[in-house]
Amino acid sequence: MHNMLTFDLEDWYHGNFLDQDEEVSPERDRVVEPTSRILQLLEKTGNKATFFVLGCVAERYPDLVKKIHQQGHEIASHGYKHRLVYKLTPEEFADDLKKSVKILKQLTNDNVVGYRAPYWSICLKMEWVWKILAQHGIEYDSSVYPFKTYLYGDNQAPRFKYELSWNNTGNITEIPPTVLNFGNKRLPFAGGFYFRLLPYRIIKWAINRTNKIDGSPVVFYLHPYEIDPKKEKNSKGFKNNFILHVNVKKAEKKLAKLLTEFQFNSIKDIQGKLS
Ligand SMILES: [Zn+2]
Repeated sequence: MHNMLTFDLEDWYHGNFLDQDEEVSPERDRVVEPTSRILQLLEKTGNKATFFVLGCVAERYPDLVKKIHQQGHEIASHGYKHRLVYKLTPEEFADDLKKSVKILKQLTNDNVVGYRAPYWSICLKMEWVWKILAQHGIEYDSSVYPFKTYLYGDNQAPRFKYELSWNNTGNITEIPPTVLNFGNKRLPFAGGFYFRLLPYRIIKWAINRTNKIDGSPVVFYLHPYEIDPKKEKNSKGFKNNFILHVNVKKAEKKLAKLLTEFQFNSIKDIQGKLS
């Protein structure tokens, strides 16, 4: 079974809980180097992925986005600025989305049909978000984390692909990141902090279990900064430091192993009829 691989294309400071209004100078950017290593790894192992690209990163690094697209990966939207969606008004959200989609379309000459919210900051109650996404050509969303953490997530949200519809007038497909069902507990494993923290054998076991027991592909996610030990270490507080930096040095090797032992594709390719 092919699983789905996704990357949120952003720099180390976008996921760093810093003041998002702070303008970071390009000298402090790190995104190009780890992303290039990811692209090489994907090419070498014959895997394809979806890249949820942050609009402001695409503006600074248009050639990087073009290269990702030329190598056959899907370009989707991660918004323009890395803002928490539940803190935006519908107008602010629509503007942010529109701006990001426009930049990505111009760079790739391709439609943008996928969206992922910064920090998984959408929950099922926010119907206004689905409507705005559909109005701007988005066919699937991958933002509702089916596990509650101190920052995001919902333990009641379905674990696998489902349709969200409203008033018989529109719908959007939700493709959540995968969590494991174990007894009556859910366990995240398929990306980010959890991928770096858990031993590889647990990740492998969880993917196989999801494929076999649930009969479903896994939706995996990572950020370029997660394989970048050279990124700045100025996160606020012990907890954030731990979340952002634990096992970063070992992550690239772990990813290489994952990409060798499993087959991955972009969301668009696996959900073929969506495009
Ligand atoms: Zn992000």
